[in-house]
Amino acid sequence: MQQTPTRTDRDPDRARDADRTAAPERPGEPILSVRGLKTHFATDEGVVRAVDGVDFDLHPGEVLGIVGESGCGKSITMKSVMRLVQHPGRIVAGEIRYRRPAGDGKKAIDVDLATLRPQGRAIRRIRGGDIALIPQEPMASFSPLHSIGDQIVEAILLHQRVGRREAKRIAIEKLAEVGMPNPQQRFDAYSWQLSGGLRQRAVIALALSCNPSVLVADEPTTAIDVTTQAQVLELLKDLQRDHGSSIVFITHDLGVIAQLADHVVVMYLGRVMEQGPVRDIFHAPQHPYTRALLQSVPSLHAEPRVALPTVSGSIPHPLHRPTGCPFHPRCPDAMPGRCDVAMPAMASVDGRPPVACFLHHDQAEEDAA
Ligand code: SF4
Repeated sequence: MQQTPTRTDRDPDRARDADRTAAPERPGEPILSVRGLKTHFATDEGVVRAVDGVDFDLHPGEVLGIVGESGCGKSITMKSVMRLVQHPGRIVAGEIRYRRPAGDGKKAIDVDLATLRPQGRAIRRIRGGDIALIPQEPMASFSPLHSIGDQIVEAILLHQRVGRREAKRIAIEKLAEVGMPNPQQRFDAYSWQLSGGLRQRAVIALALSCNPSVLVADEPTTAIDVTTQAQVLELLKDLQRDHGSSIVFITHDLGVIAQLADHVVVMYLGRVMEQGPVRDIFHAPQHPYTRALLQSVPSLHAEPRVALPTVSGSIPHPLHRPTGCPFHPRCPDAMPGRCDVAMPAMASVDGRPPVACFLHHDQAEEDAA
């Protein structure tokens, strides 16, 4: 099932060509719909608008990639969905509609997660049982004092009506499913006894233990070496194919998105700049920021020994947001008097994916400074 990574595996050109022949339609009604989500942090210095009006849908069985540089708000967006944002962060506007039909012994759910109390019973049931997180750092998921098996069993007992013996059987089954060698023996291992790759597999088994409808993978391959990265990505692809899982994959790596995602959301400074099917975004990126990100991905067709282009400048200080389009100080196509004055709205032209850029349309947001 696993394989050693090659440059070809990580080459977006390869995925782009493959996607031209396989253009997946978005399946069914969205299981997760986020509309106008704003999460702000009130600090002594001012209000940080970490997420500032984000919209996207996740459909059943789909892999949605959320991509952008560090600090663009992608992780806070999904922490907001799971109601894991810590004080002084707070959702100040928007809707997070989670809809799941009945099945797997679970009742149907249709709820706005933004209205739930962050520590209440309702969201604690959904978190782990319906929407599970695969975090960036697997060490943080497990207590070093208890075996990984016991911790997976506790999660199962919390969310499912089964006895301890059945929970242990499920835990070993999940460890086997994620490719853990000798799952019976590894059940009694502690997280610090496992290699980085096996630890990440154990975290995925923990996330899968309650058959969640949505998996949120927050840069799950960042803290592991490149060989193990490829194995973890293969595993997630297998899980998605075999179980039809819906996955939100957060990453700064467009190469990973090319391998895994069906649909892409490109974020910058807490806002969505462009979103659409992966084949469209890779084949015909519209937003200058998306184009810059794509140009900075290593490609087999790149000129040898020529430095890759980078996105010029850096993300502005969160308390000093530029007026108008947030990308204008770094944008090679910025139009003075327009881009620095008004915020472009997300709009779709001629059936192309929606984009927030005045190069493609004239629609501005009314309340933008
Ligand atoms: Fe660049 Fe203007 Fe488009 Fe913003 S709106 S990305 S500054 S061209």
